[in-house]
Amino acid sequence: MRPATRAAIFRRLRAANPSPTTELAYASPFELLVAVMLSAHTTDKSVNAATSVLFPVAHTPAAIAALGVEGVKPYIRSVGLYNTKAANLVALARQIVERHGGAVPSDRAALEALPGVGRKTASIILNMVFGQPEIAVDTHIFRVANRTGLAPGKTPREVEDGLVANTPPEFRKDAHHWLILHGRYVCTARAPKCPTCIIRDLCEYRHKTQPAAAQGTRSAGSVGKAIRRVADDRSAPARRRTARARRP
Ligand code: SF4
Repeated sequence: MRPATRAAIFRRLRAANPSPTTELAYASPFELLVAVMLSAHTTDKSVNAATSVLFPVAHTPAAIAALGVEGVKPYIRSVGLYNTKAANLVALARQIVERHGGAVPSDRAALEALPGVGRKTASIILNMVFGQPEIAVDTHIFRVANRTGLAPGKTPREVEDGLVANTPPEFRKDAHHWLILHGRYVCTARAPKCPTCIIRDLCEYRHKTQPAAAQGTRSAGSVGKAIRRVADDRSAPARRRTARARRP
């Protein structure tokens, strides 16, 4: 993709949403860390449902640690893999208390050393809490980057490296949110909304969906190709997040 095209894509995404943010509800760096950690393989909606009852009871590392694994579980049953996540959450809270004085660490190595925290979660915290221009790649960004041609890659890390290397600096800080929201609501896995997509003319995807009337005239061959594309999309990696601060 030509640099001018890449810049034009981000200009349009920015014009449509000048202040993008996460859909996870949080009111502190620790709450954001907990919400992002819990969001693996589950929806932001179910995470918000869980944290809306957990955080009023315990929203600091010390309080989560004191609650203990069995004490945390009832609050997070709505999220996938809650048994494992409860264990990680309490271990993470204890580690933050013991090694970081109760504050969310600001460097990648320390973040990734926390139980249940991987590269993607660390990137989100570094970006949203510490203002670093990291671009975390989840399943939506992986798909959008590959389809559009912004940063083609076979793995999330390959896509991340491509995005970090080629996204103009002025767009780096918010690129993650623009791309994730575009993937979640427009460039969806099974039926991307190409006819109404604001970057349709800039996107390099060769199999753009057509307006409804045109879809009715598809040949059998084109339907077969569409089915194969859906199968390809289903095999892509996974994850998720516009903010709604729960408390002042
Ligand atoms: S034109 Fe279609 S494939 Fe390209 S970004 Fe928009 S929705 Fe996705």
